[in-house]
Amino acid sequence: MIKKHRKPSIKLRQLEALFRRLNTNHPRRKDVEDDLFKARAGYKGEQQLDYDLTFLRDHEFLILSDLRLPHQGKHFQLDSLLISPYFFLHIDAKHLSGKIEIDHTLGQMKRVRLNNESDVYNDPTLQIKRHEMQLREWMQVNKHNVLPFESLVVFTHPNAYLTILNGHPYRRRIIKNGLLIEKITGLQQKYRRPVFSHKDLEKICRQLIKQHTPSWENLLSKYSISPVDIMTGVFCPKCGWRPMERIHGNWRCINQSCKYEDRSCHLAALDDYALIFGSEITNPQLRTFLRIPSRTTAFRIVQSMGVTHRGKQRYRVFYLPIEH
Ligand SMILES: [Zn+2]
Repeated sequence: MIKKHRKPSIKLRQLEALFRRLNTNHPRRKDVEDDLFKARAGYKGEQQLDYDLTFLRDHEFLILSDLRLPHQGKHFQLDSLLISPYFFLHIDAKHLSGKIEIDHTLGQMKRVRLNNESDVYNDPTLQIKRHEMQLREWMQVNKHNVLPFESLVVFTHPNAYLTILNGHPYRRRIIKNGLLIEKITGLQQKYRRPVFSHKDLEKICRQLIKQHTPSWENLLSKYSISPVDIMTGVFCPKCGWRPMERIHGNWRCINQSCKYEDRSCHLAALDDYALIFGSEITNPQLRTFLRIPSRTTAFRIVQSMGVTHRGKQRYRVFYLPIEH
């Protein structure tokens, strides 16, 4: 049973928003684009994993996607966590194409793309072992019994050709997605002694979801981008024209061949704002970003959204929601 569905991560949505609004000639645009493509590929791999898991039959797993949990003042992230009364299984998806070689002796993974360019990463089993340890500690801190724990690195790209160099101690944990169900079935046969009741399991599941902490990162400082390099205005959802004009409570596209009108186009723009600048916004900031001159209109917009606020009069700060 799926207990936590997958959605695009905050990180991916932040990169999408930044890429959409960063000035087209900005020197860091290529870096943002590269990171955006990586994040999109990661999400694609995770979706493939979710699809593969739908072929799991007669199981007692509760499935949680994309968990980010607190651990000793930091956080760790799990792509997919399957919990059952018998054992827990963590699956990390890797959506890379090309020739991939994993060398545990050096702790590295090398990927050679079709165009012969190569990238070097850490051996992915190092990360899953670390996450395994962190989840064990999380279980102890939250006063649960520790049960057998398994983890897998699953390569989800159809054009991934894998080589695992001899002597890799965890080579059985690295597979391509085609083998996933067979592998999980094997693990189900291995662990037959229940450690948890279904009630315990539901409780752990609720706790995991409650402690899930989505991350928002200040991308402007990460890429050294100045706020003035972010395009303001409402984008037309139909033709992409910017800025739309606000007339009598309506947003109107000023592209003469489009002329699209809608009352709620500011919502997407304010989503972008929150993803790029964070959820706090003042009335003047809102007016600048949406390009509306009137203070009252700006106030009416935040009021209609029902957002929370702090402070009085012109020092008032509103909190835009960031959907998790
Ligand atoms: Zn338009």
